[in-house]
Amino acid sequence: MDKVDVLVWAPGCCYICKCTPEGPYVDTRKDSSWGDEHIYICKDCILEMARLLGFEEPKKVAHAYRCFGALTQQNKRLKEKLAAFEEIEKKWEEIKCLSSA
Ligand SMILES: [Zn+2]
Repeated sequence: MDKVDVLVWAPGCCYICKCTPEGPYVDTRKDSSWGDEHIYICKDCILEMARLLGFEEPKKVAHAYRCFGALTQQNKRLKEKLAAFEEIEKKWEEIKCLSSA
């Protein structure tokens, strides 16, 4: 299969929806069983098929990756703050023990 922007072979439209939306298309390199239609599939039909199979849209996936990266950094900063707080808490407990002895 190939990604194409220009539909060279007849009928020059998406095999599924029979439309010619803006590309890109997937050229399946296959013809219909009668051999009179080259099988291209448009981006809209591919996205619909992907949704049916449980895939997310590329924009949503990219957004999720950006959020994941930001949350990973935030998690790292919070762990560092917690470690510093736990160190202070430990020293505070040691001081309380010394002062009560
Ligand atoms: Zn289509």
